Amino acid sequence: MVMQGRVIKVSGPLIVAENMADCKMFDVVRVSENKLIGEIIELRGDKASIQVYEETSGLGVGDQVESTYSPLSVELAPGLLEGIFDGIQRPLQEVYKNYGDRIGRGIKITNLDHEKLWDFKPVVKVGDKVSAGDIIGEVQETSIISHKIMVPFGVEGQIKSINEGAYNITQTIAVISTDNGDKEVCMLQKWPVRKGRPYKTKMSPDMPMVTGQRVIDTLFPIARGGVAAVPGPFGSGKTVVQHQLAKWADADIIVYIGCGERGNEMTDVLNEFPELKDPKSGEPLMKRTVLIANTSDMPVAAREASIYTGITIAEYFRDMGYNVAIMADSTSRWAEALREMSGRLEEMPGEEGYPAYLSSRLAEFYERAGIVQTLCSGDRVGSVSAIGAVSPQGGDLSEPVAQATLRIVKVFWGLSSSLAYKRHFPAIDWIASYSLYADRLASWYNKNISADFIKLRAFAMSVLQEEAELDEIVRLVGADALSSKDRLTMETAKSIREDYLHQNAFHEVDTYASMLKQYKMLKLVYDFHRLSNEALNNDVEYVDIINLPVREKIGRAKYVPESEIEKLDQINTEIIDTLKAMINGGENA
Ligand code: ADP
Repeated sequence: MVMQGRVIKVSGPLIVAENMADCKMFDVVRVSENKLIGEIIELRGDKASIQVYEETSGLGVGDQVESTYSPLSVELAPGLLEGIFDGIQRPLQEVYKNYGDRIGRGIKITNLDHEKLWDFKPVVKVGDKVSAGDIIGEVQETSIISHKIMVPFGVEGQIKSINEGAYNITQTIAVISTDNGDKEVCMLQKWPVRKGRPYKTKMSPDMPMVTGQRVIDTLFPIARGGVAAVPGPFGSGKTVVQHQLAKWADADIIVYIGCGERGNEMTDVLNEFPELKDPKSGEPLMKRTVLIANTSDMPVAAREASIYTGITIAEYFRDMGYNVAIMADSTSRWAEALREMSGRLEEMPGEEGYPAYLSSRLAEFYERAGIVQTLCSGDRVGSVSAIGAVSPQGGDLSEPVAQATLRIVKVFWGLSSSLAYKRHFPAIDWIASYSLYADRLASWYNKNISADFIKLRAFAMSVLQEEAELDEIVRLVGADALSSKDRLTMETAKSIREDYLHQNAFHEVDTYASMLKQYKMLKLVYDFHRLSNEALNNDVEYVDIINLPVREKIGRAKYVPESEIEKLDQINTEIIDTLKAMINGGENA
């Protein structure tokens, strides 16, 4: 029997319906003859408050409401990559093709293409025992990513039959005999977006997600499976940082969720992302990307759902054993959607009108990041690393969304408009930023880069800190008051900033630096500083040190290609030889 609810109130994207007693929280409903999609977000007696994901104008009291009795879910199958979806996974290109520029209401279109045939290659055979999460076959979804087809959750048994060849995502590709009879399996799985996908165990993040961006990897690293936040004052280089991360971060799959408020912000993303090239494969980056876009003509409710849609897709690729990076831009716009819905529900407002559950909702999102042993009978590790942009109005980080975010995330890349104004890029402020992973990653750096990498990092941080203090003194009493050693420290800090941290995203070589290159570059600055100090102790003149020609080579080290990395060792030798000679009173000069 289909229950019939009736609309009793319409308030923007929120409607209230009665006669809904047999529904559950978060059930998806269809509203009016137009069958608008909505989701129950509050139940009181037989009355349900429903957020509607489509334009509600024209809805009226008495319109019918039908429940689907299932929660808001996404479709997981080949066809996700290269896709551009809205907050509830409707495929935007398809929608535009069929319905024109504005998304029509109550449109009937499947989230993924159910007709397209994919070449399915099994990796199990009849008689094999399988359980939830086990890979039974794969599909080369794009030229760079193989999509693993997994046994759905809750299924365990023996392969009774398995197919090979061209199938669409709803056709049976395998039959598994289980204790409860035969179970037909197709490539398509559905998953409710508000529920994290299960895994075996969450592991402690102990390796970095290398991004090739020196200020990030060296000073403020993010762990694989970690969470980071980046504020984005206008013009501070946020877009470039995000593109650099998407292109270069050591991740297989990128999920990008755009919650733009102004229409043109999203249009930019929709225009720019498909243009990006994947430096590793030379192919378009979209071949390993899923884009979720909330344009301004979409109701706020869809924006609220979008981060769950995105993270569910990220978890799905994680379960295949991939490393996924998810970027949400911006969580502030998402929180505003939450606030608007909360206001319409007439909930008790918290700080600045945000609902009291703002922090717990944010935490629920970030908690779904992590590095895990995936659910399967073998051994498979996958990760989701999450980067959320916060863009508070007026750049004020003391407001509730930024504060709640900072309490959750472990890395903060403080983009600063004043650095951007000075054209220091990436404009990540070394004083305001932090990474709580740095200590945990120490043994990885020791093992994989060098036993003294952590020492060099500490050196860079302390010199930058000292510079900030010396700056104060210079401002008060002038540079002449500084000792030679202090002046050297100031020069070294400048070298760290300009030769090391400054990185040109648009320079062919400088755009990416491997960890090894980062180490060797930083070592140049370190050795120069260490030996210069020793030289000063041995009464070498400050000006003689500061005018050494090798300093220019330190400045140009960033342009040394990875393939000629031994050139950095040569510069290092030159530094050591030159300064040692000066220390020894010119014997070897
Ligand atoms: P936002 O998105 O914060 O408004 P953008 O990311 O568009 O700012 O950056 C603004 C400008 O700053 C860019 O057009 C570019 O010229 C410069 N820029 C930002 N980051 C870098 C970088 N890493 N290297 C070189 N130039 C950069």
